[in-house]
Amino acid sequence: MIARDSECLPPRIGFIGLGNMGFWMAANLRQKLPPSTVLYINDVVQEAVSSFMDQFSHLGPVFPTKSAADMVANSDVVISIVPEGRHVAQIFHTDPGGALSIPWHVRGKLFIECSTIDIETSKAVANAVASLGGTFVDAPVSGGPMGAQAGSLTFMMGVGEGHGRRPEMEAVVRLMGENLFACGGPTLGLATKVCNNYISGTIAIATSEGFNLAMRLGLDPRTFHNVLKVSTGGSWVNANCNPVPGVDPRAPASNDYAGGFKVQLMRKDYSLAMETAKAAGANLYLGRAGLDVYEGAAADPACVDRDSRVVYRYIGGDEEWDRRGASNM
Ligand code: NAD
Repeated sequence: MIARDSECLPPRIGFIGLGNMGFWMAANLRQKLPPSTVLYINDVVQEAVSSFMDQFSHLGPVFPTKSAADMVANSDVVISIVPEGRHVAQIFHTDPGGALSIPWHVRGKLFIECSTIDIETSKAVANAVASLGGTFVDAPVSGGPMGAQAGSLTFMMGVGEGHGRRPEMEAVVRLMGENLFACGGPTLGLATKVCNNYISGTIAIATSEGFNLAMRLGLDPRTFHNVLKVSTGGSWVNANCNPVPGVDPRAPASNDYAGGFKVQLMRKDYSLAMETAKAAGANLYLGRAGLDVYEGAAADPACVDRDSRVVYRYIGGDEEWDRRGASNM
């Protein structure tokens, strides 16, 4: 599919961070960009770069770059999605190899930063980019690796309705997402995302606890899943990412919680929500208890690096119910 608003698309796009999300976001770009558009890629893990080249370089020009500086020199728009604020700071530095190391390469460039990070780092990087004549926009995403692969992500963009580079930005992100929101101005994309993840992380714990209790009371989790889908306890987590192994074969839980949204990333986002709430004077009554769960799960060898809905395992949920047969429950 060639982009509808291809006249707004820049001829050269750079992409930094080919992880669970970025790999598929960049794949969607290469699949949907006109073959004349050049895609530059970068990741500190060489296997991610090689794997991308193997799978997608036949669709159009793809060039690995050695550093963020090389990428900025060669691209008109640079998209990045890495784990934490410290990784974003590592990319956007002024030392040799850093994205901001050659000021005249930054001028006029658009940076779309999709990681979920703290507002302070985002603000500092946005100011540094602006001081060199570039434009930096916080644009975190929601939808997980499945949404990234399907090109159906939600983008929460830290821009106002009238932002001068919005058409160009939307032309690019529409190739990776279906729902694009202009959240009002700088850092408000991140504010939206942090609040979303506080809600989603809290619902994941409540859903895990509810299933654990329901099953101990004798319910078949598949029945409970179907009831929740049309009842007030239902949620995106229940419907799309059920925490109980075997309930939804598509969910990470049914594949030993592989892929998905790593539990340590949810711990990070939960902490971000707590810090942000403290600064804003907002009470998060469930926040302390929720953070304890995510800190514990992220430090548990049985849970670390697994999808965050592994909290079901962390709280002692039954993962063998299907093997024993639901009728014995
Ligand atoms: P990930 O750990 O799978 O991937 C991150 C990638 O960034 C890795 O390939 C890593 O090697 C690369 N990287 C790190 N530092 C780098 C640097 N300095 N230069 C180049 N590459 C670098 O993480 P992910 O799941 O893709 O998440 C990325 C971001 O997106 C996080 O902020 C996360 O909170 C957010 N997010 C994730 C999900 C999800 O479900 N996984 C959903 C929405 C948002």
